[in-house]
Amino acid sequence: MSDLFIGGAWSPAATGRSFPTLNPADGTVITTCAEAGPADVDRAVGAAREAADAWAAHPEHLRARLLWRVADLIEANAEELAELESRDSGQLLGVAREVSVPGTAEHFRYFAGWCTKIQGAVLPVAFPDTLHYTRREPVGVCALITPWNFPLMIAAWKLAPALACGNTVIIKPAEQTPLSTVRLVELMSEAGFPPGVVNLLTGGPGTGRALAAHPGVDKISFTGSTEVGRSLVSAAAGGLKRLTLELGGKAPSIIAADADLDAAVAGNLTGALFHSGQVCAAYARFYVDRERADEFTEKMAAGAAALRIGPGDDPASRLGPLVSEEHLRSVDAHVRGAVYEGADLVGGGRRVDRPGFFYEPAVFAGVTDDMAIAREEVFGPVIPVLAYDDPDELVARANALEYGLAASIWTRDLSTAHRLAARIRAGAIFINMIHVPDAATTWGGYKASGWGREMGPYAIDAYTEVKGVWTHLGPGSR
Ligand code: NAP
Repeated sequence: MSDLFIGGAWSPAATGRSFPTLNPADGTVITTCAEAGPADVDRAVGAAREAADAWAAHPEHLRARLLWRVADLIEANAEELAELESRDSGQLLGVAREVSVPGTAEHFRYFAGWCTKIQGAVLPVAFPDTLHYTRREPVGVCALITPWNFPLMIAAWKLAPALACGNTVIIKPAEQTPLSTVRLVELMSEAGFPPGVVNLLTGGPGTGRALAAHPGVDKISFTGSTEVGRSLVSAAAGGLKRLTLELGGKAPSIIAADADLDAAVAGNLTGALFHSGQVCAAYARFYVDRERADEFTEKMAAGAAALRIGPGDDPASRLGPLVSEEHLRSVDAHVRGAVYEGADLVGGGRRVDRPGFFYEPAVFAGVTDDMAIAREEVFGPVIPVLAYDDPDELVARANALEYGLAASIWTRDLSTAHRLAARIRAGAIFINMIHVPDAATTWGGYKASGWGREMGPYAIDAYTEVKGVWTHLGPGSR
């Protein structure tokens, strides 16, 4: 049983309620977590508010040391964190070891570096004898709400910059995969953050709703579905809370006639099926030059069928389970819907006959733009192939959806690549490569894929307010 962390102390929920978290590889209960209710939310927001002024004034170089220490502790406990992440989310252990855990540590290190470099500017103003400068100040109390797919990394994408900028935080992980965040908060406590600076609330959607609606929260940073993101806009409206939204996606991958097809197949298999397709930036609709569409589809189907499906902790596994029974049913409903709409299921598209939530990746040919499988976010191992005849049609087709998180282009022609990169409305474009995040760059979406950006210098904008300070330097007052 894991507790809530509020004001520097661990405690059960005020109501005593808890919820189970399951291992998606076999459906068994790993443990239970406290389910925070309104009284706990109130206490956590109170603790964060009480700590806010002192933390904002905490010397920057000491803030940096704390963040750096978190990174050291993550590395010292890397294997435990990786095993926890794999068991709770179904992530392949190799991915947890090589991507999630080092990526989390790297985020803390990157933003530790920022602590001493967050600065304002002296700006020339038109008024004579006047000094004007800007200050970057923390926003205040930040509610950080994360999804289940990459719990540890996404927690770090929010915690590290929010704390570097001098905010106090309350983090709420998803109820399906809370355990690595609980352990991370334990490590943050061990690192020595003052009480109330970092608070943790585990719970379900009700906990998230109560936290987002609390009047003592100054900013909500949310990663999750577009549907819940929309509801947060309403929750934030009354208090005009600051809002960063990292939402859903349906990334197009364009495979041009001149692409190195074997490299494109290898890259798109990973782009589509990394973490069983449960990735916001997953390549999820494939526009292939008609001359090469059959070859691409056959090779993708063969590649997908060859991936060994199994538990995350089996080194032979290449595809782990989906996160839950509910999610597996949602993926399967999309697959059945595509068959009903007339798409040609070339391979896979079935639940694997074993305990846990395993699903064979589905490859579809003959998909058209109007089919749900080409328009809706499935967030699972599904590969719809659409043919195109004329490169001029690609921009309009790629931009036709409300999503705009990521896109991928496979070609040997640099001018094709960069012309498309400029015209596709998405927050990240990957040319001849898989989707990857990096602490030093930018992550975020156009259109219904979100508001604002995380990572790099952009995260500093997301977690600071800018203040202008004016001083009259001449004689007398102005
Ligand atoms: P979700 O259902 O929107 O939930 C995300 C988080 O919000 C969870 O902690 C959830 O709690 C909480 N929540 C649910 N309803 C809420 C409400 N009304 N108010 C406040 N919080 C609420 O998303 P998910 O299923 O966990 O994650 C999958 C989605 O996340 C996909 O759409 C994916 O594209 C998106 N995603 C986007 C990015 C990005 O960077 N753009 C990255 C990863 C994932 P419970 O889980 O406990 O219900």
